[in-house]
Amino acid sequence: MNDILQSIAQSSSIALITHINPDGDAIGSTIALMHALDKMEKSVDVYCQDNIPSMFDFLDGVNRITKPDQSTKNYDLVIALDCSDPDRMGTCAPIMDRAITSANIDHHVSNTFYANINVVDEEASATGEIIYKLVTQLEIEPNKSIAEALYTAIVSDTGRFSFSNTTSKTHRIVAHLIEWGADVVKLSNLLFNNHSLEWVRLLGQAINSLAIYYDGKVAIMHITQAMMDRVGATEEHSNGIIQYAKDITGVELAALLREVNDSTIKVSLRSQSIIDVSLLAQEFGGGGHKRAAGCTINLPLIQAQESLMKAINSYFKE
Ligand code: 5GP
Ligand code: MN
Repeated sequence: MNDILQSIAQSSSIALITHINPDGDAIGSTIALMHALDKMEKSVDVYCQDNIPSMFDFLDGVNRITKPDQSTKNYDLVIALDCSDPDRMGTCAPIMDRAITSANIDHHVSNTFYANINVVDEEASATGEIIYKLVTQLEIEPNKSIAEALYTAIVSDTGRFSFSNTTSKTHRIVAHLIEWGADVVKLSNLLFNNHSLEWVRLLGQAINSLAIYYDGKVAIMHITQAMMDRVGATEEHSNGIIQYAKDITGVELAALLREVNDSTIKVSLRSQSIIDVSLLAQEFGGGGHKRAAGCTINLPLIQAQESLMKAINSYFKE
């Protein structure tokens, strides 16, 4: 933590980068750090390869996240947030390559320690927990914008404080965020009780695709491009759908395969309590956490599913 504090103090231009297909933790932790650095009067730019899902439009400052496009800017310090390896930055990676100093703030077990400064805490439920700690050590007064961004990060990555990564520390941090001004009722309604019609319709399509294997221990769903077209959905609408497969009584392992194009499949993996899905994802070049991980398989849907089933078989065969 001291290295990153020192590097921030010595830098005047700072870029923040978060991961492709950004989720609540990626967006919330990045925006919180952006506001903190603003308060220190740093020059801050924020990058993400992909669009920010519209459900996060309410976050103060979310419109400052831009795509890297042709950016040729150079920074004293470039910080990647919630990115376990450089590939997770997608087209933002060259911005880090040009940095005088690079830093990596993350909580994934699969983190590859790819930067000059690596602040990696696998015990943290969310990158937002690490940013909380950082914010308390910077000489700034926290405000509501920081509190709501960090609450969004932590409530998202803990599944509303229900996943196994939730600790007493998580709750102590969140108590402070509420004291800093986070409006829990407003945030819960915006984040969880606020599904677009496209999302609900896509959920219906995905549930129709549900297949069960190994005596009910494995649940697999898929989303094809045709299914998304049918209901007018985009990739952001697939977030949260896998939970419905994982939550089936008796299921230990759930997978959702989403067709990105004819030969690219994005796989989400979840486990209930035994299988370390970050290891399963790593077999396909992905990563993540024990209970939530992902990877991309460069094959058509049917072959990708066969390939995944072969890997899953080694966990369930007698
Ligand atoms: P999701 O299934 O929600 O997209 O991702 C679950 C978890 O796995 C997240 O923590 C995410 O960062 C990680 N993850 C998802 N896809 C990939 C991937 O392709 N590579 C790596 N390293 N991590 C991934
Ligand atoms: Mn995260």
